[in-house]
Amino acid sequence: MTNLLTTAVRTAYCACSACCGPRASGLTASGVRPVEGRTVAANHLPFGTWVRIQGIGLRRVEDRLAKRYTGRFDVYFKSHAAAKRFGLQVRSVTLDREILFAGTASAQDIKSDFRPSRRGTSKKP
Ligand SMILES: [Zn+2]
Repeated sequence: MTNLLTTAVRTAYCACSACCGPRASGLTASGVRPVEGRTVAANHLPFGTWVRIQGIGLRRVEDRLAKRYTGRFDVYFKSHAAAKRFGLQVRSVTLDREILFAGTASAQDIKSDFRPSRRGTSKKP
């Protein structure tokens, strides 16, 4: 099964008013509190979609960006400095099909299901 590999613009943000505007509530567009290491914003994917961002790891779509940034992945960081350091990158993002349909499963579930060493060898009973 082929995964959907795309090269996308990747930026980062935090919950401050400089990143999210003066009306920043501290919550994501999906209503949950953003978590560094899990939250990413993307307009073109449904909430709960897991994406594998090269060089960073798995992230779950939980937030949205301004309309003009549709197609972009905005990675959440707790600190503004860390978000700024991330800058703007154009690198690959993989939408694993399995992950795409995993919906709102927790990061724990996903990680235990996707051990790279098992790829191609595991057989479901
Ligand atoms: Zn910020």
